[in-house]
Amino acid sequence: MSTTVSTQAALKGGEWIIKESNTADIYTPEAFNEEQKMIMDMCTSFVKTEVLPLIERIDNLEPGLMPSLLDKAGEQGLLGISIPEDLGGLGKDFVTSTLVNEGLGGGFSFSVAIAAHTGIGTLPILYFGTEAQKQKYIPRLATGEWKGSYGLTEPNSGSDALSAKTTAKLSADGKHYLLNGQKCWITNGGFADVYTVFAKVDGDKFTAFIVDRGIEGFTQGPEEHKMGIKGSSTVQLYFQDAKVPVENVLGEVGKGHIIAFNILNIGRLKLCAAALGGAKSAATTSIEYANTREQFKQPIANFGAMKHKIAEMAIRMWVAESALYRTAKWIDEKEQELLSSGKPFNEALLGAAEEYAIECAMLKVFGSEVLDFVVDEGVQIHGGNGFSAEYIISRAYRDSRINRIFEGTNEINRLLTVDMVLKRAMKGKLDLMGPAMAVQKELMSIPDFGSGDEGAFAKEFKLIANMKKAILMVAGAAVQKLMMKIESEQEILMNIADMAINVFHAESALLRVAKMAEAQGEQSAALQTDIVKTYLYDTADRVNKSGRDAINAFAEGDEQRMMLLGVKRFTKAEPFNTKDARRRIADKLIADNRYSL
Ligand SMILES: Cc1cc2nc3c(=O)[nH]c(=O)nc-3n(C[C@H](O)[C@H](O)[C@H](O)COP(=O)(O)OP(=O)(O)OC[C@H]3O[C@@H](n4cnc5c(N)ncnc54)[C@H](O)[C@@H]3O)c2cc1C
Repeated sequence: MSTTVSTQAALKGGEWIIKESNTADIYTPEAFNEEQKMIMDMCTSFVKTEVLPLIERIDNLEPGLMPSLLDKAGEQGLLGISIPEDLGGLGKDFVTSTLVNEGLGGGFSFSVAIAAHTGIGTLPILYFGTEAQKQKYIPRLATGEWKGSYGLTEPNSGSDALSAKTTAKLSADGKHYLLNGQKCWITNGGFADVYTVFAKVDGDKFTAFIVDRGIEGFTQGPEEHKMGIKGSSTVQLYFQDAKVPVENVLGEVGKGHIIAFNILNIGRLKLCAAALGGAKSAATTSIEYANTREQFKQPIANFGAMKHKIAEMAIRMWVAESALYRTAKWIDEKEQELLSSGKPFNEALLGAAEEYAIECAMLKVFGSEVLDFVVDEGVQIHGGNGFSAEYIISRAYRDSRINRIFEGTNEINRLLTVDMVLKRAMKGKLDLMGPAMAVQKELMSIPDFGSGDEGAFAKEFKLIANMKKAILMVAGAAVQKLMMKIESEQEILMNIADMAINVFHAESALLRVAKMAEAQGEQSAALQTDIVKTYLYDTADRVNKSGRDAINAFAEGDEQRMMLLGVKRFTKAEPFNTKDARRRIADKLIADNRYSL
């Protein structure tokens, strides 16, 4: 439905699967205020003027260059956006800090360094530090005087982070913990001043520590030689009876997992934002190239095959953006709600991010895969030149790949998406069973051919509602059939995750365009309507395929036949001329010579 009156309080995490939303419920980038637009401009122009001219030197890891760029970013306030004013930051809301990650996302290795510093490098201390720890570290991290880094991964514990082997033992005089072990793949590790490091006290109590550069027994290895983000410092850390003062325990002994996982929720959403910023830059680079490169006596941008690529880039980016800011606003609103209910600052944002952990995981997967798609097609648009190190699109291609690996691999995030939904349902936080039963009942009944298709986007909203039924049908039946065994049927979980990720993003984009059409008139949202209709048309097929694959993997006989019919019914999209729609989208971007939506 697409009315303007909000019918409900903000949805809880995962609730979009069982509830309908309307246009008044969604926050969209069209609502950015002047200050937010100014901050976004500041970020993109910082990248353009301070970072891109130095990109070769950055990628050659010129000593001191990356830290000096972080210092400059600090001078402009970009390191303290989300840090409270009393700790030396600007105290901006979550949407604004998300926007900063997006605005800086086109800066290649610099984007990784600044995101690591402001995210995993700073937030553990900001949210879990004692007052003394915060006073000591945060103002310096906010200005960039000190650079931050985060050491969780070890050679034998990546996705399975809690199996870390690094140990911490209290010294005989009770003044220090002695850390022993090794961390690997540590971003900013080569120049950071402050590290959040995870180690097991007495070999079993997983705990976070603040480790200062230069303490006895703590050394770093050489820079890794990487496929991409070559300018981002990545080293191993070694601890040999490294003496960490007891006052540097972060949070509680044995509660390090709470820090590790909570920080990741925020990091995943922010990664999506940075990936979106990177994708927009790569799309603009590719559009400019398509406009200037001539073959067969005309710009290659004239060719339908190229237009298809340019349009598809735009479609996926616009959809990602819609879901990103919808979720960022939910987090802002939940944080405010928790603050007004008396929760302290640190618990409020973490609680809010935890509430939307499912959505953060989905955004991470979707955003990183959109970026990969855009840079891959960008290389293709560049032809042979795309394969040349001289062209910046080849750097974008190499630098993109890491995003599907860190902040939890995309496999882990897909598994988490379904796992968290099911856990919420089991805890009674999300009523999946009721709606899933209703779908089963509906399957037995005669299909409703009623018109009911009134108002703008009515058919599209109906399709979204139906695709949610497909998710409920498949997930409900899989859980009933497989029970606890479902955990070992990862292929089915991946299918369900893909259905959820597609539908969540499609719904976010549909709500956004419906809102735009209400506010500005259908005509002025015509291109965005093309985007959403094309995306929905394709999504229906994707959801259908994932649904069928899952059903065929666990059902048989009548049950299988009935569910296959159900998935067909629930993913039935109206015929739509996606070729013409893509041409209209591409023509606009080609005329603007950039990604301009
Ligand atoms: C450039 C770079 C920068 C990084 N920066 C940091 C940093 O600053 N701090 C930090 O602590 N870490 C950092 N990392 C580490 C990163 O977070 C890990 O690489 C990542 O979590 C994956 O762990 P892994 O490499 O050990 O892969 P593995 O966990 O060994 O995974 C290998 C493959 O197996 C799959 N897999 C693993 N477990 C499962 C499962 N249960 N089910 C299904 N599939 C599974 C994965 O999806 C993946 O495809 C960085 C890594 C890189 C490459």
